[in-house]
Amino acid sequence: MVHRHTYSQSHLPIREQSTAEGHSVRLVYMCAAMADVAAKKEDTSLKEACERLWSNIVSKRMYITGSIGSSAKEEAFTGDYDLPGDTAYAETCASIGLIFWAKRMLQMEQDSRYADVMERALYNTVISGMSLDGQRFFYVNPLEVDPKMQRVNPNYAHVRTRRQGWFGCACCPPNIARLIASLDQYVYTPAVEQATLYVQLYIGGDGEFTLEGRRAAVTMDSDYTSTGDVKLIVRPDSPEGMQFTIALRKPDWCKIPELWINGEKSEQDGFTFEYGYIKVTRLWKAGDEIKLHFPMELLRMKGHDHIKATFGKVAIQRGPFMYCLEEVDNARGLHCIQLPRDAEFHIGSGEQMPLGVPALTTIGQRIVSQEDWGIHLYRSDVHWDTQPAELRFIPYFTWANRDEGEMSVWIRESE
Ligand SMILES: [Zn+2]
Repeated sequence: MVHRHTYSQSHLPIREQSTAEGHSVRLVYMCAAMADVAAKKEDTSLKEACERLWSNIVSKRMYITGSIGSSAKEEAFTGDYDLPGDTAYAETCASIGLIFWAKRMLQMEQDSRYADVMERALYNTVISGMSLDGQRFFYVNPLEVDPKMQRVNPNYAHVRTRRQGWFGCACCPPNIARLIASLDQYVYTPAVEQATLYVQLYIGGDGEFTLEGRRAAVTMDSDYTSTGDVKLIVRPDSPEGMQFTIALRKPDWCKIPELWINGEKSEQDGFTFEYGYIKVTRLWKAGDEIKLHFPMELLRMKGHDHIKATFGKVAIQRGPFMYCLEEVDNARGLHCIQLPRDAEFHIGSGEQMPLGVPALTTIGQRIVSQEDWGIHLYRSDVHWDTQPAELRFIPYFTWANRDEGEMSVWIRESE
């Protein structure tokens, strides 16, 4: 098959490219390599090309789940704001590649916007790419499915409404495995020249770093995904302590994080805030403790008004997690459901969810018509009624682990 030059990003010299084109996995892999070369060679124009392409993706061509690639044909980017949820390609590997690239951008430029995208891709599309029992996988990660239409409409031929055990081209399953197995490399960015340890992801574990020629260890104990609580214990490899900065990322979804150093609440004078990081500089002693609380407000997310697929709709986010409705909880016909602007949510209902991420319930509305449609497909004398409907939202990464059915991230919003 002969592809267009955009497919392989060979339509222009890479330094002249400003929009993300072609095969989405290839594009992000190429950009990860460009970022490596830009850092190694201190190549400003290559770094600027990376920044332009990054900006085009995250401001115009990325799904709210951190997935990319709107078109199944050529597994490719399409145009700005073209983000259909049901025909999305949104390959698991593309979000993994976005994470590879984000890590490299963070090594060149410590700006939390790269880590925010890394987190969005990881906690939504990437882990959704694998079933909760770790046995089955998604290649394509749509934001809306209807299994009945998937079976009959060839435009959905690439979409699966159940994860598969394996694929003819099985790139995604081992890619998830290698990312999860190497996640330690994404949690911290030590910036030696600034004597700063950047904390990018709040994933528990032990880390060791060399800053200013001396070693320090950090142990992170994290309930980030369930309560938003994180604890770090610092242990410099020196009895007199070690002067350096710890820069803690403020996630884009959190308005005001809370910080305690050795049990004492740290107010504005105890830290600086730069490029999305809370920076604490001090002489760290063995056993010094940082506690963080990131309050998880429920966010009603809207899409840019140029995105046709999301216009007039709302998507629910809590912490780093996007939520969705499934037919198994909410009955068939998710397109008839709407969420009033003042709907109040109850957090944590039903069975315990993975990673301690709660399900959400609320009272929404189902739109119904009172007419007997008979043989009519269209009619002018239709009266719609709204009935109260109990809605249950689950984290997007847990969808398709129960009965097969409809799923939707974006829900119509009502007054
Ligand atoms: Zn793949």
